[in-house]
Amino acid sequence: MDLTPTTEQEEFRAECRAWLEANLPWDYGVGLPPLFDDLAEEVAFLRGWQQRLADAGFVGVTWPSEFGGRDATPLHHYIVQEELARARAPELVGRIGVNLVGPTLLAHGTDAQKARWLPGILRADQLLCQLFSEPDAGSDLAAVATRATPVDGGWELRGQKVWTSYAQFADWGLCLARTDPDAPKNRGISAFMVDMHAPGVDIRPLRQITDESDFNEVFFDGVFVADDQLVGPLHDG
Ligand SMILES: Cc1cc2nc3c(=O)[nH]c(=O)nc-3n(C[C@H](O)[C@H](O)[C@H](O)COP(=O)(O)OP(=O)(O)OC[C@H]3O[C@@H](n4cnc5c(N)ncnc54)[C@H](O)[C@@H]3O)c2cc1C
Repeated sequence: MDLTPTTEQEEFRAECRAWLEANLPWDYGVGLPPLFDDLAEEVAFLRGWQQRLADAGFVGVTWPSEFGGRDATPLHHYIVQEELARARAPELVGRIGVNLVGPTLLAHGTDAQKARWLPGILRADQLLCQLFSEPDAGSDLAAVATRATPVDGGWELRGQKVWTSYAQFADWGLCLARTDPDAPKNRGISAFMVDMHAPGVDIRPLRQITDESDFNEVFFDGVFVADDQLVGPLHDG
């Protein structure tokens, strides 16, 4: 495969570099982001930064233009990543939405789900989290024990997640839950978009040795999830 940059790719890199040189809120390539005592302040600052980067067209470049992307190639994505690293820009605060949940919705969501959740992701207007890991389900995700049981109009979630990055700031989370307890353990699991502000969601930040709380435990105690929040096929998340 010939990875020699095309003229268009070189121009794109130059455009990205010029924008970063002009817009980074600290010295390009040498400076560091400001240090915050309070994680909420840091998240607010980084949301503002991601918003500016997205408005300039440098977040989610491979996403369809109707959702804020550029319909660009994976090579354009890596050009942006190289330029962000060269500039010493911080990681995207909304990276779980941009890199994990958004692409999952693009691949498996219905048109209505894409229209509902994708527009706010690139600008960090809404933050998302990933609700996969549990106390007894890490690498072995087939051990997921959080249950979703059918109720009128949807599902009721009960269980516990752990290591959920930035759950305390998230508006929505993509959650794996067991919907068919009688199936073999690597089957019978479904994916749901969960409203992190819904009744029954209890988010408990985990305090790290650094005194920061990037991760959380998340408890679901009878959380209602509507049918249209199921992402992809039932029992096949
Ligand atoms: C920075 C960070 C952010 C994270 N954010 C999130 C998040 O937002 N949402 C979320 O859901 N999770 C998150 N996680 C959790 C992460 O996905 C889990 O740590 C991961 O799934 C591993 O699970 P575990 O920690 O329970 O380790 P375990 O699964 O217990 O693994 C421990 C060790 O055993 C090894 N091991 C496990 N199974 C086998 C096997 N069968 N054979 C050989 N070796 C094995 C592993 O390689 C590892 O070295 C985050 C983790 C980190 C580090």
